[in-house]
Amino acid sequence: MHTDLVAALDIGGTKIAGALVDGRGRILARSQRPTPARENGDTVMGAVEAVLAELTASPLWAGVSAVGIGSAGPVDASAGTVSPVNVPGWRDFPLVRRVREATGGLPVELIGDGVAITAAEHWQGAARGHDNALCMVVSTGVGGGLVLGGRLHPGPTGNAGHIGHISVDLDGDPCPCGARGCVERIASGPNIARRALENGWTPGPDGDTSAAAVAAAARAGDPVAVASFERAAQALAAGIAATATLVEIDIAVIGGGVAKSGEVLLAPLRKALTDYATLSFVQRLVVTPARMGTDAGLVGAAAAALARQADAATV
Ligand SMILES: [Zn+2]
Repeated sequence: MHTDLVAALDIGGTKIAGALVDGRGRILARSQRPTPARENGDTVMGAVEAVLAELTASPLWAGVSAVGIGSAGPVDASAGTVSPVNVPGWRDFPLVRRVREATGGLPVELIGDGVAITAAEHWQGAARGHDNALCMVVSTGVGGGLVLGGRLHPGPTGNAGHIGHISVDLDGDPCPCGARGCVERIASGPNIARRALENGWTPGPDGDTSAAAVAAAARAGDPVAVASFERAAQALAAGIAATATLVEIDIAVIGGGVAKSGEVLLAPLRKALTDYATLSFVQRLVVTPARMGTDAGLVGAAAAALARQADAATV
């Protein structure tokens, strides 16, 4: 029997994924439901419970010692509640208590999705072996998390490292979060596409106006598409440099759909970093693509649950 087996939940605006994960990060069972994101809170919870019911029916369940949850944010790990922007039925929703009830009273560890991906990259991906790292996701939004002193640093509420809402443009456009000029307002996929369209980029015959389409145009040399990615890269570089200067990270890992654009984003990002990461102790900062795939959220949630188990064992 696995004594180091945990259950993991990855809760996002489109899907709720669950898995049983062992101490080496292997997924031994999995379950998934679409997120009924426009429904009321109990209906959304019903989808979580359906995922958990499939996992608890597994013959392996008897060995599960804890549950880790990585959720779209904001989360409040100290209160055990979540309020995901894209799931309006959940506001201060007591997810930790409800999951504990659905799993027979197991300990439950809650972190934000950016922090979960960071845990996964540190455990098994591009940040492995790095004691001080920033991991980020650049897609529809921009999120992230921190590893400091060799340990995940979720912060008191589980949201630390949320680089998407650092302001890098003091008088910039209003951000849905309430601030101005946030990294996300400039560097997220939808904002890259919006800026390209505003500046005269014309989509191809298929009418695709996604950031991936802008990336393809940039690769083909379209100057407006290139400029939109350069602006996004500049915002990301300023945010990364600020983080590095503040807490001395030596690697920044970038994943998410927009990062799949590859060098279209990374080349101008590395160049912009030389403008912003200037002090001696941040000049060696490395920017690298994420290595974990679509299971990163699950693996990271499992890592958080396992780390809590290890901490409890040493107290
Ligand atoms: Zn913001």
